[in-house]
Amino acid sequence: MAFDFDLFVIGAGSGGVRAARFAAGFGARVAVAESRYLGGTCVNVGCVPKKLLVYGAHYREDFEHAAGYGWTVGRPGFDWPTLIANKNREIERLNGIYRNLLVGSGVTLYEGHARLLDPHTVEVNGQRCTARHILVATGGWPQVPDIPGKEHAITSNEAFFLQSLPRRVLVVGGGYIAVEFASIFNGLGAQTVQVYRRELFLRGFDGGVREHLRDELIKKGLDLRFNADVARIDKRPDGSLAATLQSGEVIETDCVFYATGRRPMLDNLGLENTGVKLNEDGFIAVDDEYRSSEPSILAVGDVIGRMPLTPVALAEGMAVARRLFRPEEYRKVDYNLIPTAVFSLPNIGTVGLTTEDAVAAGHRVKRFESRFRPMKLTLTGDQEKTLMKLVVDADTDRVLGCHMVGPDAGEIVQGLAVALKAGATKQVFDETIGIHPTAAEEFVTLRTPVQE
Ligand code: FAD
Ligand code: NDP
Repeated sequence: MAFDFDLFVIGAGSGGVRAARFAAGFGARVAVAESRYLGGTCVNVGCVPKKLLVYGAHYREDFEHAAGYGWTVGRPGFDWPTLIANKNREIERLNGIYRNLLVGSGVTLYEGHARLLDPHTVEVNGQRCTARHILVATGGWPQVPDIPGKEHAITSNEAFFLQSLPRRVLVVGGGYIAVEFASIFNGLGAQTVQVYRRELFLRGFDGGVREHLRDELIKKGLDLRFNADVARIDKRPDGSLAATLQSGEVIETDCVFYATGRRPMLDNLGLENTGVKLNEDGFIAVDDEYRSSEPSILAVGDVIGRMPLTPVALAEGMAVARRLFRPEEYRKVDYNLIPTAVFSLPNIGTVGLTTEDAVAAGHRVKRFESRFRPMKLTLTGDQEKTLMKLVVDADTDRVLGCHMVGPDAGEIVQGLAVALKAGATKQVFDETIGIHPTAAEEFVTLRTPVQE
């Protein structure tokens, strides 16, 4: 059968764009359909605008710190509409870059919702296209639990476009997005309460890191409520909101922000016209080469729910393009030692095993830790402390995990991830000469293990 395209990609987000561009570069005839925004979640309502808001929120501390260095700063004022307008302009610029990248690499772009009609046919804007391979890269969507008054809550999708900064915000959830947005709202000046249903947020992160971040956030004025959850939300006649916790306590607020996880985006995708199966969590089930149970249909990125991070979606998209159209360059994605950051204020940077996971995996663990006040803060009144931590296998000396809470943690841990991928031992860390004076040098001067 002659197909219109070799590859039809549904979704121009991180994974889809990467697969489409590289497949076209390898000589394939490629089309992409995008229903909403070029660049997907990361560019439009994810990593990029989030990081811009985090930068914005950090200025509050920067102004305070500047005084310690002799600067006279007038009373700083913050204007949310300016930040959002500038952010929107930057995102529009990036949308244009994505358009040029796709069109420039010879990809046919369809702007509209794509729906599968059969295993080789996609319909978009009333037009039918056939393809030998179809890649589903439709990403995810915020999920809000079904509680009375949920219609009064917003998610990250709406937060990026609020008309004004709420005076009071209630953040619900304890994952990446909740923690990051609690820091954003708090930093920009909103009275912020964060509610999380278990004993401590960021489940799955190193215990010491979670506790350290909790303590630092409390110092910055965040009102953290653990072992708590919202039972209902009511709108008051004056437009404000009342969130009733399961304990019966009522929190008066102006905005309830939910970040309680994301579901795969499969709405009206037509999967029922194919043999694609979902896994038990509702994500598209794929094998380790991203093939679904329908031979012609593949899936990558958030829609497979493996590790919802942009660099992972990029790697998966690249792997698909190579395997299909440049098999001699194909390499499987290595999911070991994926570094990650939480852009709270202060940031978390982490790679490898947590102390808890290392112990559970049967390692005899040595922990090395340092807590210190960064030099930059010594001339200021800011008592923020940085945490750096190495988890080491006591038998092999191999560094199993590396964790940090502090300024630029993501920037620092990215480099250390290379060392861990290369199998660095603690001795290699010890023999590495530091760069002085930096915070990062602390990672190569951790000498004494913590006594258990
Ligand atoms: P997406 O980027 O979601 O792209 C999917 C695209 O498909 C979308 O553009 C959508 O409109 C389109 N689409 C869906 N259905 C259809 C259809 N039927 N027809 C046509 N088009 C369709 N990750 C990080 O690594 N670092 C971060 O700092 C970070 N911050 C984040 C902050 C927030 C608030 C959020 C929500 C996510 C963040 N992420 C971050 C996660 C990251 O954004 C995702 O992992 C990444 O975007 C996934 O890429 P993807 O290609 O799978 O899907
Ligand atoms: P996460 O899965 O990280 O966190 C969801 C949080 O919501 C958890 O704390 C979870 O609690 C809680 N939760 C889930 N369901 C409910 C419920 N019904 N009621 C109350 N609480 C609930 O999801 P996010 O939405 O924060 O982010 C999605 C993904 O996007 C992340 O996992 C991450 O991969 C990616 N991302 C990455 C970022 C980065 O790299 N910096 C930034 C932002 C997002 P519990 O712990 O009990 O399950």
